[in-house]
Amino acid sequence: MEVVVVPCLYDNYTYLIINGKQAAVVDPSEAWPVMNIIDDRGLELSAVLCTHHHHDHIGGLADLLDEYGSLDVYGFFQDRTRIPLITKPLQDNESFSVCDLEATVMHTPGHTSTHVVFCVEDHLFVGDTLFGAGCGRLFEGTAEQMVHSLDRISACGSQCSVFFGHEYTELNLRFAAQVDPTNPAIGRRAARVADMRREDRPSAPSTLKEELETNPFLRIEDGAIIDQLKREERLESSGRVAVFAALREQRNNFS
Ligand code: ZN
Ligand code: FE
Repeated sequence: MEVVVVPCLYDNYTYLIINGKQAAVVDPSEAWPVMNIIDDRGLELSAVLCTHHHHDHIGGLADLLDEYGSLDVYGFFQDRTRIPLITKPLQDNESFSVCDLEATVMHTPGHTSTHVVFCVEDHLFVGDTLFGAGCGRLFEGTAEQMVHSLDRISACGSQCSVFFGHEYTELNLRFAAQVDPTNPAIGRRAARVADMRREDRPSAPSTLKEELETNPFLRIEDGAIIDQLKREERLESSGRVAVFAALREQRNNFS
């Protein structure tokens, strides 16, 4: 299995899963960048995976269907009203096959109430639930739901690679350095990511191991992070959900 990172729009990532000549696309922001790769490499597109209904993740879906005819369009069954082009509605934890590869879906509410993450072998397509060193904004879900969603992702195994929906990693790492100032892994990752971005290379995919080491939203039990929030007087209680909510709030006001 190969995954091609396809930069789209301003800072979105669409992903092309390739196995032999078969291809599937995750979160087609736009159709043409994907079509160019499919045509150049003589691939056969058979499926589309949709993590959530936001336009910057499905904007190219209708054009792909126009171009390639019948495609299997996978998404969460509760997203069917918001993504009417879904043909293969999935339940939480349902397994399916894409490009002859084993895949499962995980419901991860928080960014939207119907967001899902796709696991294809040990590749996690996390949409806007998790980012490089960050996580999605809570547009529809609660902090409690997002903590549970991130816990499910964290449990997938540190060897997993993480394919996220936007290139926000550099800014996220600056935030991480502020809230987790004694963590040496953050500076090391920031240096690696700065090199990649200088050469216009995507910071995706990361690994779950890297995220567990540097992503403050996966480190809400970390003493240094909790101390920082206390110093800033942002913490109302020391429970995991309160820590997450305080961090998310702090990140919303960080630029
Ligand atoms: Zn989104
Ligand atoms: Fe998005």
